[in-house]
Order: sequence, then structure tokens, then C-alpha cells
Amino acid sequence: MIDLYQKTRNCRGCSFPATGLKELIHMNPMPPVGPLNSSQEIALKIPKIPLTLLQCQRCGLIQIQEILNPHFQSSRHALPSSQFAGLVSHYKEFSALLCDRYELNHNVHFIEIGSNDGLLMDALPSLWNKLGIDFESSGELPTNPTIQWIREPLTKALVDKYQIDHWAHVVCLTNALRNTEEARHFFHTASLLLIPGGEFWIEEPSFERLLANEQWDLLNHSQANFWTLSSLQTCLDPLGLEYVESFNPVHNTNVQRHVFRKGSPVLSEANFDGISPHLLRLKSAYEKRFDSLPVKKALEARQRGKKIGAVSASRRTQVYFNQIQILPIEYIIDEIPQRQNYWIPGKGIQVVSPDCLKKYPVDLLMISHTSELDQYRSRFPDFKGEWVCRFG
Ligand SMILES: [Zn+2]
Repeated sequence: MIDLYQKTRNCRGCSFPATGLKELIHMNPMPPVGPLNSSQEIALKIPKIPLTLLQCQRCGLIQIQEILNPHFQSSRHALPSSQFAGLVSHYKEFSALLCDRYELNHNVHFIEIGSNDGLLMDALPSLWNKLGIDFESSGELPTNPTIQWIREPLTKALVDKYQIDHWAHVVCLTNALRNTEEARHFFHTASLLLIPGGEFWIEEPSFERLLANEQWDLLNHSQANFWTLSSLQTCLDPLGLEYVESFNPVHNTNVQRHVFRKGSPVLSEANFDGISPHLLRLKSAYEKRFDSLPVKKALEARQRGKKIGAVSASRRTQVYFNQIQILPIEYIIDEIPQRQNYWIPGKGIQVVSPDCLKKYPVDLLMISHTSELDQYRSRFPDFKGEWVCRFG
């Protein structure tokens, strides 16, 4: 029998011993977010695991203690990036930024780690010498003849085998660090690829999104590491990767983008300066979730005999209703056909098509965030009840 999860031993960033990992938030056991279940019976029986958010007292990396066994990770079968229209424009914008920055250098040697189906590299000049390293992606191999591929994990042995040390002017890490263990060693290997003065780009999900409006339901077992600029700097300084600047992507504001340059290693001072007030607010919002306004509103409505539904069987919806089990939810409406007539793991709420709203009307509809309100109002014009936003 395979264990469902393992506990983080040392810091996943700087390898500091576990005694230096401080507990920030401990969430009730819940099913790992992911595929919906085909019956309520199955949904109710799904194993649950706790979620503990830790922070390293040396590098400040925020990380999850319970690491799901890769066997149970649903993101293993991620779709190719090019299937998402939002990502296409995101990477076009990124490639324009790179072209501007390196335009005077005609023969740029470029490596992307975590390159998926090569969406970013496709958009870069064909004169550039491009290499994609990605062993996880299930995407189709691209046909673009100007790109070379290595479908193996990045290790020192791989760097030696392909003789690619000191080869690249630019190395890009796109969404490659969310579940990395021993990131310090990974960064070291990646830095071997760069020539002196070469630039190292890191694009990662932004932790700020989660902190804004204390959206604790964005925490789940599919992402183990939450990098901030400060935690990256503590891990990269000793490797001689010096921070240069950051950019805010135009289309996808949920990620952050930082540039580092290869120079001489500097002795890293632990620059962790204590738990931020934002994190304390996130912790408090989670612990006081039963007293939050939307929960009180829903429970009061229920006492008056009103019925409550929710919209979107997303990951965060799964987390929210598993953490606040007292909410009596009739059903979750979802416009994606593949999700309809399934049940969310753990709480076992049925997912239905929007037609259900006419046949079995509800009085309240819960959505994740106030920013989604306008789009849902226009998508469900016939709903005359009250909209309740869980955050924002
Ligand atoms: Zn650390």
C-alpha cells in the first residue's frame, strides 16, 4: 500500500533542518483537490489529509508540510499550455519582453526549464538557439525545427551528458518550482547552464494573490512551495545569482517574474525578518472562517428556510466547502460538461448544469470572489436571488 503523503523534513528551499520550519496555519484534513467523483458514496469515502503551512526561519520560504505522493497528484496529467487561450497571450507578451531585452545579441542561446509544449520558445526569434528541458509535460512534442528538446529531469549528470554547462545566455524557469524539493541543489544545477553575466528568469505563481483578501481556500495539496522575492534571493545569492529586477505580467497577474544575473557568489545572510502581518491575517481569516460574513449570511438564510447553491466546482470551491462543512449546499452549478453529474470529493455535493437553476431554484448563490460577480450576473441573467461572495 502506497502512503498518501509524506511530511517535509528539511526546508524545500534552503535545506534548513525541520526544526527551523515554523507552523503558520494548520487546516482540517480534507481530500486532495482534483478529479470529481462519480458517486456521492465514493466522494464521502475519499481519504482526507491535513494541510499545514510552514515558513522557513532562514530563507522565509512558505511551504506545505504534507506532500502528496506523486502517484496521487492529478496535475501529472496537465494539458499542454497551448490549449489555454489566456496562456497563449501571456507567453506572447513574455517573448516580446525577452526579444526587446536581448535584441542586439543575434545568436541568443536560450534554455527554458519547465517548457511544457514550447509555447514561449515558439514565439521567440527563429535565429535564437533554443533548448527546452521538461520531463513532466504530457504535451505533444512540438514540430518547430528551431527548438531542441531534452525530456529528462535536470541533473548534473544531464548537464555533463549534453555538454551544456556555460552554454546559455538566458535560462528561464516557468512555473517549475511549485513542487520542487531541495530547490538549492536544483538552482545550483540550473546556474551551471549559464555563461558568466547570463540572466536567469524565474516566473512563479504569486503568493500575493492568496494574501489579498486572505483567500485561504487557494491553499491545497497541489502546490507545495510559495516563493517570494526574498526567499528566492536567500537561495540564489550563495550561487552568485544576483537579483536585477522584476516585471509584472500584463495578462496573467497571478504570477510574478524576476531576473537574476550570474556573477560571483556572495555569502548569504539569512534575511528572514519574521512572519509578515499579511500571513497573520490569512491565519486569522482561516481560524475565524465560521464567523465570516458570507457564512453567517448563508446560515441565517437557511434558518429562514432559504436554499443555497454555489457556482463552479473549482479546486478552491472544493477546499472551501470541505473546510466549512456546516454550510448546507443544494448543488454546485458548473458550465463545464465534464464536471456535471459528478460529486466533489469529501463533502459530496453534486455538480449540475446551469439548467438546474430553473428546475430546482435556490435563493442564494455563492461564488469565490467579488471580482467574478459581474461575469456571473451576465452568465446567469435569470437568477433573481442573492449573490454571496466568499472573499473580497
Ligand atoms: Zn529555507
